[in-house]
Amino acid sequence: MQEPFRAIVVSRDENKKQSVAITELTHADLMEGDVVVEVEATTVNYKDGLAITGRGPVVRRWPMVPGIDAAGTVISSTGTEFKAGDKVLLNGFGVGETHLGAYARYMQLKSDWLIPLPEGLSAHDTMAVGTAGYTAMLSVMALERHGITPSSGPIAVTGANGGVGTVAIALLSKLGFEVVASTGRMGEADFLKSLGATEVIDRAELSEPGKPLGKERFAGGIDAVGSHTLANLLAQTRYGGVVAACGLAQGMDLPTTVAPFILRGVTLCGIDSVMAPKPARIEAWQRIAKDLDMEKLKAISKTIGFEDIIGAATDILDGKIRGRVVVDMI
Ligand code: NDP
Repeated sequence: MQEPFRAIVVSRDENKKQSVAITELTHADLMEGDVVVEVEATTVNYKDGLAITGRGPVVRRWPMVPGIDAAGTVISSTGTEFKAGDKVLLNGFGVGETHLGAYARYMQLKSDWLIPLPEGLSAHDTMAVGTAGYTAMLSVMALERHGITPSSGPIAVTGANGGVGTVAIALLSKLGFEVVASTGRMGEADFLKSLGATEVIDRAELSEPGKPLGKERFAGGIDAVGSHTLANLLAQTRYGGVVAACGLAQGMDLPTTVAPFILRGVTLCGIDSVMAPKPARIEAWQRIAKDLDMEKLKAISKTIGFEDIIGAATDILDGKIRGRVVVDMI
C-alpha cells in the first residue's frame, strides 16, 4: 500500500453543515475489515450524488468517503475467501454510507461483502454497469420470477435515460421484450431506440396525479422514479401484470389505491440491491455477463477521472447525466 493516498471525504461541522473535499488518508484512517482492496474503477450512482451533495440522508457516519461501488484487486487478506491478487467487485452493503467507500485508492472491507469479478467482465465493465445496472438486472429477474415473458406484452421502463433505465432497456431488448421507455428527455428518443426501446413516451404522461385505474397498457414495468409515476404505471398495468419498484427519482411517496391489486391482480415487487444476499448478486452478475450487449454498454457509459466525481455528483441529481459514468482510478 502506498501512503498517503487520495480520497474524497465528506464532513459535517458543528452546525451539521456538510462539505466535501479531496484529501489524503493513510491506512490508519480506514475502517475495520479483513480485506484491503486497491480500487481500480468506481462509478457515480444517484445515491453517491445524494451522499456527496448532502441532498439526501445517505451518509450515516462522519467523516465519510462516499462511493457505493468498486472493482479492484485484493492487496491483503486475513480471511480465507480471498487472497492477494484476486479481482473483486463490491456493490452496496452500506459502503459509502456507514463504511468508508470507493472514492479512495484503497478500501478496507469485510470479505462477506465482496464477490469475485464476474467472468468475462473487466473492472471497468462492472463499473459501467454499477449498482444502477445490477439493480436493473435484479428488476428483470423479478419480472421473470413472476412469470413475465416477452409474449406477455410491452414493459414500461421509467427514468429511461438514467443508469437503471438505460441498462434495463438494453437487457430487456436483448431478452426479446418490447420496451416502452418513459423519459423527460424526448430529445434522446433516438438514443433510447438504439438501446432497444420500441416506443418512447414523454414522462409527463405518467408523472401527474392520475386515476386509480387506467387503460391496460403494460404487461409490466421497471420503475426507477416512484411517486405518481409508479402509481400511474400500476394503474395502467394489464391484468396479472408485474411492476418492479426500485427507485425514487420523482419522489418517495406512492399515491396509489388498492384497485390495481384487487381488481387486476397486479403484483408490485420491491427491489433492494444494497443488502441483496450473495447468491442473488452472483446470479445477477452472471446474467449481466450473459445478457447485456457490451456494445450497448459502451454507448450507455462515459468515463471520467477522479477529479470529476464531485461535479458528476451534482449533475446526476440534476438529471444531466445520460446513462452511466465510470471512474477509472488507476
Ligand atoms: P439516474 O439519475 O441515472 O436516473 C434517474 C432518472 O430518473 C433520470 O435520468 C430521469 O430520467 C428520471 N428522473 C429524474 N428526476 C425525475 C423526476 N422528478 N420525475 C420523473 N423522472 C425523473 O439514477 P439511477 O438510474 O442511478 O437511479 C434511479 C433511481 O433508482 C434512484 O432513485 C436511485 O436511488 C434508485 N436506486 C435504487 C436501488 C435499489 O437498490 N433499490 C439501486 C440503484 C438505484 P429521464 O431523463 O429519462 O426522464
